[in-house]
Amino acid sequence: MTDFRGSTITWLGHAVVHITTAKGTEILIDPFLKHNPKYPKNYKLPEKLDLLLLTHGHSDHLADAVAVAKRGSPQIVGIFELVAWMQSKGANDVVGMNVGGSYKYRDVTVSIVEARHSSSVEDDGKFLYAGEAIGFVIAIEGGPVIYHAGDTSVFSDMQIIRELYAPEIGLLPIGDHYTMGPKAAALAAKYLGVKTVVPIHYGTFPQLTGTPEELEGYLKGSGVKVLKPAPGEALH
Ligand SMILES: [Zn+2]
Repeated sequence: MTDFRGSTITWLGHAVVHITTAKGTEILIDPFLKHNPKYPKNYKLPEKLDLLLLTHGHSDHLADAVAVAKRGSPQIVGIFELVAWMQSKGANDVVGMNVGGSYKYRDVTVSIVEARHSSSVEDDGKFLYAGEAIGFVIAIEGGPVIYHAGDTSVFSDMQIIRELYAPEIGLLPIGDHYTMGPKAAALAAKYLGVKTVVPIHYGTFPQLTGTPEELEGYLKGSGVKVLKPAPGEALH
């Protein structure tokens, strides 16, 4: 069982995750809020966010990013092209990186890792190039190492993520159709060496058929624990 060591992880439906570290650093990933059918409407995000992490440009991840950026004035971390688009919309505090890079902010080191997915931003009816889709490794000083896979299939280089960063908690998509499903996510957990999986990107739309129970079935006997919080339920 993973020790969260004072950090809190709250899944907010789809790929939206809010992390608060023991030292109070506030991180939000992939803000799809208003039109996210699973978003807990009474959930209070902090007024001041420190980091906003964006895995790619699709609207089910980026929809509320500009609004959140303008309201909570976070530093926006993501792939160069996507954060440049954010900048063009008036979100000025951006950290544009690329795969393999790390950024340190107070008690948190955020590393960009690859994902197998497409990425674009729909802007005024046109699909604009938004760089590569990515995942994030979030290493908290004195706390756990968390991997948010973004949207991806399983890929064998997840073993490199294991070797370099040793994530303990994997936030893994399991919905199928647009990402991997439960069987592939179980293999991902093995490649990553995580002790705990929090399934994300499922149950939002009818196409997303994968369930946490199926994932549990595939992980039976592996020692990996699947946590199944309701949207808005804090894990700590
Ligand atoms: Zn998605």
